[in-house]
Amino acid sequence: MRIINGHTKLTALLGHPVSHSISPLMHNEAFEQLGINYVYLSFDAKEEELEQTVDALKHLGARGWNCTMPDKIRMCELCDFLSPAAKLIGAVNTVVNEDGKLYGYNTDGIGYMLSIQEAGFDIIGKKMTLLGAGGAAMAILVQAALDGVREISLFCRHGKSWKHAEEMTARLNEETMCHVQLFDIADKELLKRELDTSDIVTNATNVGMSPNEDASVIEDKSMFHQGMIVSDVIYSPRETKLMKLAKEAGCPTLNGLYMLLYQGAEAFRLWTGKDMPVAHIKEKYFEQ
Ligand code: NAP
Repeated sequence: MRIINGHTKLTALLGHPVSHSISPLMHNEAFEQLGINYVYLSFDAKEEELEQTVDALKHLGARGWNCTMPDKIRMCELCDFLSPAAKLIGAVNTVVNEDGKLYGYNTDGIGYMLSIQEAGFDIIGKKMTLLGAGGAAMAILVQAALDGVREISLFCRHGKSWKHAEEMTARLNEETMCHVQLFDIADKELLKRELDTSDIVTNATNVGMSPNEDASVIEDKSMFHQGMIVSDVIYSPRETKLMKLAKEAGCPTLNGLYMLLYQGAEAFRLWTGKDMPVAHIKEKYFEQ
């Protein structure tokens, strides 16, 4: 039986809303499995209350916390130090409190890269086409570039994310070995051309997410080719329309469920110094 006592270390999730999150289940189960004296709670914190909440957690000596959008951007400013990926992305989803100094990390991209690797795919030195330029896309873009993906063709709308995507493209070309190019997602000819030479395509837009399950950024399955991996960051539904079309074209597919698991596993490692028992957590909460 789990004992909460005077030595229990506090970890948490901050966001608004937070009650739907699987993170408390995943982390508390992992603490119990390893027999380590930690607890993970979720706190509903509105954006305007974030600084106060962080101050309180710091004051209480919490070991660390996760945060959801839109707090990930503001959390950057509240940290004393940022990991290279968090700095480039401009967003923090995991904070470690080391004696009152806050270290900010972004484990979303790490979670994505681990999920690909764990599924048995090797994309290092290869070419990726990435769809979208929101929070998830930027985390994947930066981590893939830092980890050694050779080339990334980034497709997004000529809308609110375009300028940020342009700046990020320029920075990554300057600061990493990866060759990044930005394209307008409305140009399907260009998208087809880039897909033809890609080893992996990753949907990091909301398109196809429940309840809009009939939508897909790529509608024409002849745009996929054999041997290409098709991945989606969406995990509800488990199989998106994009993944269905890709499967019909003979491509291996992967949803975002294990990205979610591995971003949590990386946060767990940062707080506890121990590996999350992922096989057990997968079986209990992440059955595909
Ligand atoms: P976000 O910051 O709002 O970004 C959404 C992106 O999708 C933006 O680039 C947006 O373009 C684009 N988009 C929306 N509708 C589009 C359309 N019709 N055509 C082309 N592009 C479109 O959201 P996010 O936080 O990155 O989340 C995106 C998805 O990832 C969600 O489904 C979320 O659940 C999932 N996610 C999964 C994980 C995981 O662990 N598996 C982690 C984080 C997020 P504009 O900027 O032009 O609006």
